[in-house]
Amino acid sequence: MNKIILQGITFDSKSSFMKGPALAPPLIRSQYHSEAFNFYAENGMEIHPEIFDDKGDFIPSQYFEIEEFTSNNLNNNFPVLTLGGDHSITYPLIRALHRLYGKLNVLHIDAHADLYEEFEGDRYSHACPFARILEDGLTKNLVQVGIRTMTKSQLVVAKKYGVKVIPMKTYSIDQIPELSGPLYLSLDLDGLDPAFAPGVSHHEPGGFSTRQVLEIIQAIKAPLVGADIVEYNPKRDINDCTAVLCAKFLKEISAKMLEYN
Ligand code: MN
Ligand code: MN
Repeated sequence: MNKIILQGITFDSKSSFMKGPALAPPLIRSQYHSEAFNFYAENGMEIHPEIFDDKGDFIPSQYFEIEEFTSNNLNNNFPVLTLGGDHSITYPLIRALHRLYGKLNVLHIDAHADLYEEFEGDRYSHACPFARILEDGLTKNLVQVGIRTMTKSQLVVAKKYGVKVIPMKTYSIDQIPELSGPLYLSLDLDGLDPAFAPGVSHHEPGGFSTRQVLEIIQAIKAPLVGADIVEYNPKRDINDCTAVLCAKFLKEISAKMLEYN
């Protein structure tokens, strides 16, 4: 039977403004297992816990241990779904997947482009992962959607590497190109409007509704070899509603992974 590798990365050392995302993985798991909900995704698939080859929640003592941990967890070409953690973890995650698959197509949902050369002196800050991914040549295509905080310096990086940036201001789903596999999805919760996802460190108004993000996930037409759900900050959450949202995305992303597995 095809499985999905599930791992949590309890890490927020690269968060620039506020800590908290390290607390997220067990809380997302707890909402996924909550008796308030069933395990069904919207396509009718039951995303039962037995579907997961669960590697547990990992506490890295150093940033690059995330790459080794992930690499060691990859087996049988099963897709890997990672619960963050701040967004810095995406760079070591994609490095691990690149070892196995070569260059990936990457779909990135976020309010921020995360393309800074460095941020507050740290090249591995949660504001930088996609600059590192591009420098290392780990992608075939990088498509960023929901962006509403673009800066001049990050736009230079985007142009240099041919990143397709779809700003929130003029977004429509038909602007997202059909990406082939191997595909990676990186979901930063602050891509959603804070009204839908209050539990994030950086509230950036004017973002996606839950339904719009579900539409993006459900429209994927390629093998999804990896995905992450990052930047959920429980310290900012209200009535666990962002934890529940993450658990919903866990089910929907898993359903998409199984569709092409
Ligand atoms: Mn981000
Ligand atoms: Mn963000």
